[in-house]
Amino acid sequence: MSEKTRYVVIGGGIAGVTAAETLSVITENATITLFSASPLIKTVSNLIQLTQTLETFDVEEQSFTGLKELNNPVQVIHTTVTSLCAKDKQLFTADGKVIEYDKLCICTGGKPKLISQDNPFVIGIRDTESVQTFQQRVKSANRIIIVGNGGIATELVHELEGCEVIWAIKDKSIAHTFVDPGAGEFFMEYVNKVKDNTQEGVSKRLKYTTEETNRKSPVQSNVMGSALGPDWATRLQIHGPQEVSHRVHIEHQVEVQKMISPEQFQQLSMTQTVLDGSVVESSTWPVYVQLTNGKVYGCDLVVSATGVEPFTDLFLPGNDFDVAADGGLKVNSKMETSEPHVYAAGDVCTACWEYSPLWLQMRLWTQARQMGCYAAKCMVAAAKGEEISMDFCFELFAHATTFFKFKAINFFLLLVILLGRFNGQGLQNDYEVLLRVTKGKEYVKAILQNGRLVGAILIGETDLEETFENLILNGMDLTPFKENLLEPGIDVDDFFD
Ligand code: FAD
Repeated sequence: MSEKTRYVVIGGGIAGVTAAETLSVITENATITLFSASPLIKTVSNLIQLTQTLETFDVEEQSFTGLKELNNPVQVIHTTVTSLCAKDKQLFTADGKVIEYDKLCICTGGKPKLISQDNPFVIGIRDTESVQTFQQRVKSANRIIIVGNGGIATELVHELEGCEVIWAIKDKSIAHTFVDPGAGEFFMEYVNKVKDNTQEGVSKRLKYTTEETNRKSPVQSNVMGSALGPDWATRLQIHGPQEVSHRVHIEHQVEVQKMISPEQFQQLSMTQTVLDGSVVESSTWPVYVQLTNGKVYGCDLVVSATGVEPFTDLFLPGNDFDVAADGGLKVNSKMETSEPHVYAAGDVCTACWEYSPLWLQMRLWTQARQMGCYAAKCMVAAAKGEEISMDFCFELFAHATTFFKFKAINFFLLLVILLGRFNGQGLQNDYEVLLRVTKGKEYVKAILQNGRLVGAILIGETDLEETFENLILNGMDLTPFKENLLEPGIDVDDFFD
């Protein structure tokens, strides 16, 4: 090793930037280099620690100088890393440079899984550039089909105005990636609700905006910019040509069977499904979508919001990485990949350690930040030959988000809180559910296994997050209190004083 330890991080998203910033804080005798294919990097601001494990923060796109440094400066280089030779500890960049490292952290995020790769009417939403393309195309779109049931689809369905939206979901209920059918039902009334844009100003959270025009595309066209994140859709003008607010039709339990061109549609003498109440029925559309329930809808554009897959393409050739079934680089409890001295964090990696029964990996901002920070600590510990114990944040899955602008009118927007095994994941139906629902106001679901709280979904201003977190973490037997646990007007904390 050279006198100074050479740390290199690839990726200007939250995972990479957090790793670089943490390295800057905790290293002493080191050089730190961050490679980013995108001209702007993502930084975290206004971090609020709500409970031990729950946090909210804003995400800002900044120039490289926005990076927070302490002990060691971080050199940020805007270029694409084109390949890696892990055996020789060398990286190769698009501008012909060869970089040597002692410890490397790959944080290259994910790329959208599109339902059709080369159909010009299918677009995926991932980064700023793809949102700008979408905004342009929506302006003349009378009907859009959105495919997918995760956070991106759910946000888009709510934000899109001025056009008809057909939302094709493969599940029985909406927002299924995050919440159970009960909560999906709770959200349903917001789907076609006219948005109250007057509340916009009340939010104290910074909103992600894509108004900046001075952006260059990433160096290589197959390398994406950083993924968008919380609130990315709320300030966007995504408006079609019609004078309507919301017109959403949901097709449940379907997938896209086939994309059909107008020519094929004619040749096959197909009939399109008439959409109830449609004001834009047209005999010809630029593209048709056949769903697995046999329905065929014409539309102007299809948004494929069917998730992302880890972006590992450039690193696999010539190296010996263990890759997980979901395509991510497998990492152990020290964020190490199977290649010596190579770490990974964020969307690109798959957590393969034996993790706490209350934690699970979801490709989210929070986890990108936590993993980036922890990976940096692991790299430094390894360089110093020290042991490191697993960060506490991996004890309990905790995520706060918002849907359908279902927001509090004051301070932070803590509206959908997911804790532990919030959907009973991995519990094999061996659990009990306690539920409290006040239509339009709150949805509280507690998941108990053997009398112990193991997960929760809290929607609305329930004020239960801290208590529930404590109950989950201390594993207390709640059998004696079960009947009253969710009773309205009862302060749960009183039981445990
Ligand atoms: P990314 O943010 O994808 O960053 C990867 C970085 O690596 C980029 O800067 C890219 O340019 C760079 N890169 C890639 N390859 C190379 C290379 N070869 N050389 C150099 N640089 C390279 N999460 C939430 O928690 N809440 C939400 O509400 C939410 N909404 C979302 C909405 C959308 C539309 C999307 C797409 C994602 C959303 N997510 C949300 C998920 C969240 O954005 C991601 O989990 C998170 O951004 C992952 O961060 P990352 O740093 O791992 O990857």
